[in-house]
Amino acid sequence: MSEGSVRIGELLRQGGRSFSFEFFPPKDEAGEEVLWRSISELEPLRPTFVSVTYGAGGTTRDRTLAITARIAQETSMLPMAHLTCVGHTTDELARILGALAGSGVRNVLALRGDPPGGPGTDWVSTEGGIEYASDLVALIREVSDLSVGVAAFPEGHRDSPTLENDTAILKAKHDAGAEFAVTEMVLRASDYLGLVERAGAVGVDFPIVPGIMPILNFSSMAKMVELSGREIPAEVLARLEPLQDDPAAVRAEGIAIATELCDELLEQGAPGLHFYTLNRSKATREIYSALSVHA
Ligand SMILES: Cc1cc2nc3c(=O)[nH]c(=O)nc-3n(C[C@H](O)[C@H](O)[C@H](O)COP(=O)(O)OP(=O)(O)OC[C@H]3O[C@@H](n4cnc5c(N)ncnc54)[C@H](O)[C@@H]3O)c2cc1C
Repeated sequence: MSEGSVRIGELLRQGGRSFSFEFFPPKDEAGEEVLWRSISELEPLRPTFVSVTYGAGGTTRDRTLAITARIAQETSMLPMAHLTCVGHTTDELARILGALAGSGVRNVLALRGDPPGGPGTDWVSTEGGIEYASDLVALIREVSDLSVGVAAFPEGHRDSPTLENDTAILKAKHDAGAEFAVTEMVLRASDYLGLVERAGAVGVDFPIVPGIMPILNFSSMAKMVELSGREIPAEVLARLEPLQDDPAAVRAEGIAIATELCDELLEQGAPGLHFYTLNRSKATREIYSALSVHA
């Protein structure tokens, strides 16, 4: 993939395969060390971009800004900052966008964010704020020149009443000016392909990058189920459950399952892969090096 552009929307449209890594702002100094070690271990893979999440309720605003700015200024990698509507007025959001642009960040993932009570609880509006990601996309287009991505959901967002409704929401984000989407963790290639097909049918023609997170242990799997409100596919459980007394075997099988999924997604035409690294590099590097298809 060409490195000429700094806009992720343009890079993805050039048609090469994109590999990207997602990090979250750590809570303490030990976590910072782990994060920067992982970043330096993943940099040699020459990702198309890396992204930094925005903590629930805007709690990591300063750290998200600081980490994306440092990646932009001190590494060869192209950073994307996540931004959510939770707890912010429109003026605050505009100021944050100005700060991002001022620190050399050129890409943002526009999200509504989860309700402060956690996924699945009622959404809480902020006076003078924004209700939906599509409105945030419109604001970003209005006040900045940042390249904007959005979230997409292979099985539909947990609060969307139907897949049709979910597709209409993605279309609204597309029409507001989003240039690409990154998905929630894909559990089956067919879910991702269904999303791309539904989106294409309503005129959403931007690149949709599948999100990848290997199952490395049973507790992270349970957390994923709780947060996204989805079920682990029976065929995945059938491979992992017999190994549950052997953590190393669970991890190895989880990596194998994720690698097979990545290969299938790329073979079926996915424009790239977005890895949820959880600030660790080892699993991502293992999957990356085991892939049949590279950039
Ligand atoms: C790749 C990715 C990265 C993420 N990063 C973060 C992060 O950094 N920080 C964080 O806090 N969360 C993050 N999330 C989680 C995300 O914020 C939640 O899933 C959130 O609940 C939905 O965000 P959204 O941007 O899709 O919202 P929206 O597209 O606004 O949708 C939210 C809900 O509102 C409904 N809706 C949307 N528009 C309308 C409308 N016009 N009328 C009626 N209903 C509507 C939708 O159906 C959906 O149920 C991420 C998710 C993904 C997939």
